[in-house]
Parts: sequence; C-alpha cells; structure tokens
Amino acid sequence: MSHTTWTPVVAKPCQNGPADGVIGSYLLNTANVEAFIQSAMEAIHLLGERLATVERPFSGILPAELAGDFEAVSLDQPLGSLEAALAELERLWLRDAVWFHHPRYLAHFNCPIVYPAVAAELIAAAVNPSMDTWDQSAGATLIEQRLIAWTAQRIGFDLQQADGVFTSGGTQCNLMALLLARDNFCLTHLNGHSVQRDGLPAQASRFRILASRLAHFSLQKAAAVLGLGARAVIPVACDDDYRMSPEALQRAIDDCRQAGGIPIAAVATLGTTDFGSIDPIAELAPICRAAGLWLHADAAYGCGMLVSSRHQERIAGIEQADSVTVDFHKSFLQPVSCSALVVRDRRHLGCLVWHADYLNPLSQEQDHIPNLVNKSLQTTRRCDALKLWVTLRVMGPEQLGAAFDAVIELAQQAHALILQQPDFQVLAPPALSTLLLRHAPQAACGQPMLLDALNEAIRKAMMGEGQALIASTREEGRSWLKFTLLNPVTTLADIAAVLEMIRRHGNSWLQEHGREPQPQPA
Ligand SMILES: *Cc1c(COP(=O)(O)O)cnc(C)c1O
Repeated sequence: MSHTTWTPVVAKPCQNGPADGVIGSYLLNTANVEAFIQSAMEAIHLLGERLATVERPFSGILPAELAGDFEAVSLDQPLGSLEAALAELERLWLRDAVWFHHPRYLAHFNCPIVYPAVAAELIAAAVNPSMDTWDQSAGATLIEQRLIAWTAQRIGFDLQQADGVFTSGGTQCNLMALLLARDNFCLTHLNGHSVQRDGLPAQASRFRILASRLAHFSLQKAAAVLGLGARAVIPVACDDDYRMSPEALQRAIDDCRQAGGIPIAAVATLGTTDFGSIDPIAELAPICRAAGLWLHADAAYGCGMLVSSRHQERIAGIEQADSVTVDFHKSFLQPVSCSALVVRDRRHLGCLVWHADYLNPLSQEQDHIPNLVNKSLQTTRRCDALKLWVTLRVMGPEQLGAAFDAVIELAQQAHALILQQPDFQVLAPPALSTLLLRHAPQAACGQPMLLDALNEAIRKAMMGEGQALIASTREEGRSWLKFTLLNPVTTLADIAAVLEMIRRHGNSWLQEHGREPQPQPA
C-alpha cells in the first residue's frame, strides 16, 4: 500500500472561489477543483489505512457503548476542516464499522464489493445526475437503459418488448411488481378499472397473491402498502428441497377461488433468502398462465445465475415471468443500492406514468425524450446503474459469474465439512450459497429448548467477539445459525475456523449453564 508515503493535507478554501467565505469555498465547482481532489484523496487515504488494518469483521461494540460519543457531538458547531471531520468519523464509526469484505463475514446479504464500482460511485456522486428526466441526466439515462436491456437479454426477454428500471432494492422491486400485477389485473379483468385514477375496486379485499412459504417478507409489506393487506399473500407449500411445489400452487389457486378469493399473481422465488432454493419456474409458469395470474420472479439473490456459466440453466423458465427482481447489490459484487425490476412487456409499466408539466410533460414523450420517471416510483433518483456499467466495462460478466460459482462451490464443501462434525447439525444441502446449521453437542441433544438457547447464545457471543460474523434464523420452529457465503475469497479453512469458534462458544456456554435451558427472557 502506498498510503505510508501520504501525509494529510488540509483542504484550503480556494482563494479564487466564486464567493468569499465558507459557502463558496466548499462548493464542488470549477474554482475548487484542487481542494476537491485533496479532499477526495484524504477520504481515500483514510479508507486505505482502515482497510489495510482490518483484522476482524467487527469490533463487537454495543450500541450503548457508542451512543454517548455520538450524543456528545454538537452538530451546530462545525470542526471547520474535512481533516478534523474525518478524524472524528474514524473514531465514531470506522473504528467500529462492520467490514463486509472480511472473509469471515458470513452473516447477511452484504456482498464484498469491487473497487471499480466504488470509483464509479464517486463519479456518480460528484456529477450528481438525477435519473427522473433526460434533462437532469443525459447519457446516464442511456447507461441505465442499456443495462436494463442487457439484463433483459440475460433473462431471455424479447428486447423489442421488455423494459425496466433501477430501484433502491429488492423490496422496492417486489412492491412495484405487485403494483403492476394489481393494476393490470384490474385493467384487464375489471372492465378497464384504473386503480391509478379511481383507487381500489370493491373486489380488492379478495385479491390474493400466492408465494412460497419461504418467500421474502417484502411481499407481505408490499401487499399491505398496496391496500390488499398482508394476509392477501397466501403461503404455498414447498417440496423436500424447499422449492414451491407446482401441485401445491395449483391446489392453492383452486382453494383460494373456492373460498371466494381472487388470485391475481404468483411469485416464484429464484433463490430463497434462507435456503437459496429455486422455485421450479418452468413448471409454475404454465399453471400461472392457465389461471390468468401475473408471474413475478424474485431473483433478488439468485440473479447471480444470470451470469454464471455453471448454474444459468437452473433458472430456465425465468423468461416466462411477467416481471423479475434482480439485486445487483447481493450477487454482482456491487455497493448498496443497485437493483432493477425488469418486465417482459413494457406496456405494463403504463400504470406508473404521471405527466407533470414542470418535469416530464406529455409533449416530451411525443418527442421520444426518455424520462425514466415514467417507470419509477421515485422522482429524484441516484444513478445506481453507473457502478454496474463500470464494473462490466472493467471486468465483464464472466468474472462476476465465476465469483457466484465460487461461493456456491464453497457452500457445498462447507456442507460436507459440517457433516463430518459429530457435534453439528446442518438442515439441508445448500441450493446456492447459504447454510443453516447448529451446534448440537451430545450434552444438549434431544433438548430442543436448550439447543435453541445454546445457538442463540453462540450467535450473540460471536457478534461480541467480532472475529467472525454469522446470522441466525428460525425454521421448523427452531433456532438455526446461518452462513451466507458471498465472498469468493473465503476459503474452506475460514469455514473450519468459524466452526471451531462456534464450538468453543457453545461449549463454554454449556459449561456455564449446565444442561438447563436459559430462563426465557420476559
Ligand atoms: C434480500 C431479498 C429481498 C429484498 O431485497 P432488498 O434489496 O434487501 O430490499 C427480496 N427478495 C429476496 C428473495 C431477498 O433475498
């Protein structure tokens, strides 16, 4: 690292700034280029120093231990220099940040990120386009549109018809997908009823959305926001491999109709959050088509298969979906946020269009000016497409696919390794790169409550120690530890070391607590 030769520089207010005093001197403009470069370098060198010395994914600090330091900051009294502000930030946050790039960060879906994407983020932040209209973004709009087309092509959609938009994440994608499903159902099945204009029809309280019992909770949230109620999402049973069963879907549609419900959409999850299981979309699609249901594919996690040479065929049938969620910030090594909703037929996006005289008047549409606000729930919107663009231009899709392949393979090796440990249980072979496991030593076996308490205590102790981070979840009413493997440089030796930590924490907790389950907290 070259940071050892660097000495901090204080960004001096430029003498020839457009205005005297502080305001003019900190504006990012032609007069302050020198100071901007110095400031950016200060931030980059601070990051470089931190990254070079990160030894564990987390310090283990507790919110209560930090809160006082944050409260002591007087936001009305500026420090007067970036150097001082960065030093304070280092002390307040970076010293105790969570580092997702660390090979023993195995907790959530925050992937390690590639630095070309971070460089692109700096450019996006500095140019600061807004994606709502062409006249606030110019070429950035075309960057986004090309990436939507590229993604649509990977999905297998007909490019003449497909379209889409970048979003803040899978949650917003799923909300949009269900909104399109709801509104297009009303347009086509309820005499052209426009929800956009007239609100929910009387039948809306009977609308139902069918999704695997393992589908993401954002579907329930979306149904609630859309006025359908969270209970409109009907959980469909899975097979032994945690995949939505086509027979169960057909039965759920029939049962739903029998009970007076109106099924409007089904969601196939291509990579469930806990199991990575891939709903058999090729078999689900004909059922949905016959029943007149909108088919949404939630590939928030599984989208990495779009660029994988080894696993691409496992999502065959995705091209039959009406809409697809992709989270580049989960499986494409991209910084948060970077996601897109892609639809098979661009006409379906019509129910999102509003024309505002000040922003995107109808006359501009007639002039073929691309105003992306017409497809988005957001108005002012970051250029999240730029980082993916630069990543693809530097690395290409094969490397991203190879990274996804690597974590899938690591999960399989980790599974085999856990099976060899007599004091561990693993719930299922990994479909993608997640694993549910738990420490189950002889002394605790056959005592489900004790096992739950033990594994919850292990997760907490690991968080406090910070040498490795893992997650936890519940399945079949019991507590499990969870590995989410997204880092292509995590090795099987890392996994073995993490298992050893789990064992150490587990055994010492058992020693402290005997065989008795921990008293239930009130
Ligand atoms: C993570 C996830 C989401 C939500 O995506 P965000 O980007 O966190 O909003 C939706 N669906 C699935 C299957 C997910 O794993």
